Amino acid sequence: MGDFSTDAILLRKIEYGDHDLIITFLTRDKGKISVMAKNAKKSVRRFSGAMDLFSVNHIQCAFPKKNRDAMINLCQTVLENGFSHIRYDVVNTAYASYWTEIVTQWLEEGKAQPDIFELLHTALEMVDDGFIRTEVISLLFQIRFMRLSGFSPGLDQCDACRTGIEGIYSTRLWFDFKAGRVVCSQCKGSISGVQKPTGPFGVSARGCWVSKGTLKQLSWINSVEMARADRIKFSSAAIQEGETLLESFISFHLGRNFNSLEFLNKMRSEK
Ligand SMILES: [Zn+2]
Repeated sequence: MGDFSTDAILLRKIEYGDHDLIITFLTRDKGKISVMAKNAKKSVRRFSGAMDLFSVNHIQCAFPKKNRDAMINLCQTVLENGFSHIRYDVVNTAYASYWTEIVTQWLEEGKAQPDIFELLHTALEMVDDGFIRTEVISLLFQIRFMRLSGFSPGLDQCDACRTGIEGIYSTRLWFDFKAGRVVCSQCKGSISGVQKPTGPFGVSARGCWVSKGTLKQLSWINSVEMARADRIKFSSAAIQEGETLLESFISFHLGRNFNSLEFLNKMRSEK
């Protein structure tokens, strides 16, 4: 196997020994890969930029020549976009770190997923441009990421009686984290595990209450082109409900808490 070069978003950076780094990238051509950057801390010429989290780089790599089990070597990087506007803002940085952590935790190594590369790249560019609220971009990123990963939450009909959202009388529906689907209030009584709302947005360990309007907006941003995202007019309440639903569902589905999300929650509660 020969060498290769590709565009790559930096997902994670771990120190290895005194001089080396192990870096995980989401690449356009080869999906998520981990590479060894020898002498990275000294070699400013080969590795331009600071190699920061979620920066976009053009990378050149070499497969190991002798030991096939050894890691891919990172030979050179050229910084393409460091997203300086994101880094100026601690909340934007927290959002970008959260998306990066989702991708890092979720994707298999070495499986090409150019759609997910494009999604993360576009979301970062949108935050950097600053025309659309980062909270809305986060909803857009999460719901599309789940669709591309093959498990979209079911938000357009009651999972029990199959009534479409439009035909449901009640204004709020129960979203069950385990099933990943909504249930109307008429059907919820017949399903065990549905609890009274406890948190500020009706979140419990098993699910959350969400209004019909928020569900409709989430379905819409899942289907619309990214370029039209600026036309979405979310109310603050819908943003909070949408974020609660998607962030709780993703954490539940992956069975873990995200450090970046805890930090983001802290930032949001201080606002
Ligand atoms: Zn129902």
